[in-house]
Amino acid sequence: MSLTFYNTLTRKKEAFEPIDPRNVRMYVCGPTVYDYAHIGNARPVIVFDVVYRLLCHAYGADHVTYVRNITDVDDKINARAAEEGSSIRELTERTAKQFHADIAALGVLPPTVEPRATEHIDEMKALCEQLVAKGHAYVADGHVLFDVASMADYGRLSNRSLEEMEAGARVEVAPYKKGPMDFVLWKPSKQAEPGWPSPCGIEGDGRPGWHIECSAMAGKHLGQVFDIHGGGIDLTFPHHENEIAQSRCAHGTDLMARVWMHNGFLQVEGEKMSKSLGNFITIHDLLDTKDFGNSQWNGRVVRWAMLATHYRQPIDWTVERLQQARATMFEVADVLHGVEPSGEPNGEVLAALSDDLNTPSALSIVHGLLKSAKRNSEKRPELKATLQFMGLYGDETLEDLDPGREVRDIDAGAVEVLIAARLEARKGKNWSEADRIRDELAALGVVLKDTKDPASGDIVTTWELAR
Ligand code: AMP
Ligand code: ZN
Repeated sequence: MSLTFYNTLTRKKEAFEPIDPRNVRMYVCGPTVYDYAHIGNARPVIVFDVVYRLLCHAYGADHVTYVRNITDVDDKINARAAEEGSSIRELTERTAKQFHADIAALGVLPPTVEPRATEHIDEMKALCEQLVAKGHAYVADGHVLFDVASMADYGRLSNRSLEEMEAGARVEVAPYKKGPMDFVLWKPSKQAEPGWPSPCGIEGDGRPGWHIECSAMAGKHLGQVFDIHGGGIDLTFPHHENEIAQSRCAHGTDLMARVWMHNGFLQVEGEKMSKSLGNFITIHDLLDTKDFGNSQWNGRVVRWAMLATHYRQPIDWTVERLQQARATMFEVADVLHGVEPSGEPNGEVLAALSDDLNTPSALSIVHGLLKSAKRNSEKRPELKATLQFMGLYGDETLEDLDPGREVRDIDAGAVEVLIAARLEARKGKNWSEADRIRDELAALGVVLKDTKDPASGDIVTTWELAR
């Protein structure tokens, strides 16, 4: 099975060739743990979980190392802990635990290694020392700063020259910086801030900058050059550009990772998600409360809804998207619940995923498989294996898939009217209208059953709530 991925670094879709097929290595930037992860944060977690599953399938699970870090030292964490009056440790432990529970519900597998920044301070300090020794970083005013001008091709990932970046920079430049784009590797800590003895002969305690954390953790667990580095598109600059600068200059390599993959952004009901707009949705909200669309959503439904869009496209997160995913999953559960999966995942689905993770195409193939599985029970084990492979179906019942059903007020009269309209449409051979009505009802959790009246030969439709 040959894989192709779009590489942000080369701006091309390329055939994937691991450096060592016996140890395929991927790093993905994980969460900064100070608050509930939002539904935008869920996107890279789900997308790269699919990449991980695909790599395991192609090279064998024992031959893939997936590292997704936890950033547990960051100024946002310090500020939140002070605000709450809790200790930093308490806040980061609690948030990391919540993150794990949330993403497990989304069918996400644990990575091979989940390093924490606070456990890699020595590696970060060593990188600072190496960069200073090689003339790529300097000490100024208690900081260690990366000297951007010392790297000939800084800006290669985001495809911008240093001149362009400097012209576009609006940030006020700290007086101790040599160049306006120079960035912090290490900074001094005040008494109340977390701190560790500083490197490079600096007196007093300090703490790392964000970018150096990922360079240190990736280097430790994956080596100087590895196969895939992933994250959201917003991380391309400056975070990933700076990770590359640090790692390459410290190790004297031409690359940090061969392939750079970035997921597109997620917005909610047509707007950028933000606390002030009141459309900020956490994974926890979707799973445990009735905040979005007056419903509560099963994690697999959330995953299905996410993967219905190609990972590089932007997503508009809507209630309708979730309803559609749930309607399909009701059909899945109806046909596949309790079926023993067997065999390999479907070949066409694998081919779609192998083509730069084309999940929308994979899901439309799944729809076709579902149609034939309804008619032919022999097709079911393979479909079940396919959906399990994608993490989309873990044998949930109709009831599991609709945890918020008690809050939805189903008007039986309106359901009967729609059923009658559907029968009418079918009589007129207007199949698309009939299907549309069935989908509309399915989105409400209403499952239809068509049976033939043995006496008259007419189709009789009964309905029940998905339970
Ligand atoms: P952060 O905790 O902000 O560093 O984000 C963690 C991950 O979530 C990064 O890979 C971000 O790129 C990604 N991310 C944050 N917001 C969004 C969004 N609205 N849509 C898609 N990905 C996002
Ligand atoms: Zn990172």
